[in-house]
Amino acid sequence: AVNRKFHPEDSVIQAGPAAIGGGHFALIAGPCSVETEEQITYVAQQVKKAGAAFLRGGAFKPRTSPYDFQGLGEEGIRLLLEAKKATGLPIVTELMDIRNLPLFEQVDVIQVGARNTQNFDMLKELGKTDKPILLKRGLAGTIKELLMSAEYIMASGNEKVILCERGIRTYESTYTRNTLDLSVVPVLKGLTHLPVVVDPSHATGHAHLVEPMAMAAAAAGADGIMIEVHNDPPHALCDGAQSLTPEQFAHTAGKIFRIREAM
Ligand code: PEP
Ligand code: MN
Repeated sequence: AVNRKFHPEDSVIQAGPAAIGGGHFALIAGPCSVETEEQITYVAQQVKKAGAAFLRGGAFKPRTSPYDFQGLGEEGIRLLLEAKKATGLPIVTELMDIRNLPLFEQVDVIQVGARNTQNFDMLKELGKTDKPILLKRGLAGTIKELLMSAEYIMASGNEKVILCERGIRTYESTYTRNTLDLSVVPVLKGLTHLPVVVDPSHATGHAHLVEPMAMAAAAAGADGIMIEVHNDPPHALCDGAQSLTPEQFAHTAGKIFRIREAM
């Protein structure tokens, strides 16, 4: 169960060489979408050098328009596994259709995106696996709804759930893509033993807002921060405007680690 009453200690979720929760802090970084082998391997090497513990990258992409880049699919997973082999970084990637689960056998952490937070049948199936699940808050999801979605996974037998705040839909959408709800970090830490990650990239939608919000998330007690990093943001096939360059990411990561040390 998600409730801290039944599990007073923080859960630590292990994925390959990395751990998150219970004092283990992790940066998860990488492009919105896997585009080419050179791209994903290069970004993986760069974020690893900057201190990231996980490589992220979308292969199956939940795009608003069906005419936008939909991700490389199975080939994207293969390229992520190449980048994992090259760097040793465990990988995080999104599953949108439970029928693709067999393709995720060597994926370290399965992401459930904001559009599938309440896809209850998918959550039940993921509960039958032993994979860590990064569960994002729904587009306009309440805290209770997020916790109940985690409960679906856990009730089916899988206790390895990482919660992720990625901003929620409010009346603002011009200057920020979503509204980052940072109060969710201490609220969730009180209610549950599960690790809490913040994604300032999707929460803000703008690269210049990522560093300040990442620092605030670290200061608020997040167990991890997920940041989109692209080798060439202006030409990214998805979410370039919110993507940091590897150099910017290294700078931001340094600041985040200094905040962690000061806590
Ligand atoms: C993503 O992480 O690439 C993504 C699509 O995120 P979200 O589900 O939070 O929109
Ligand atoms: Mn994205």
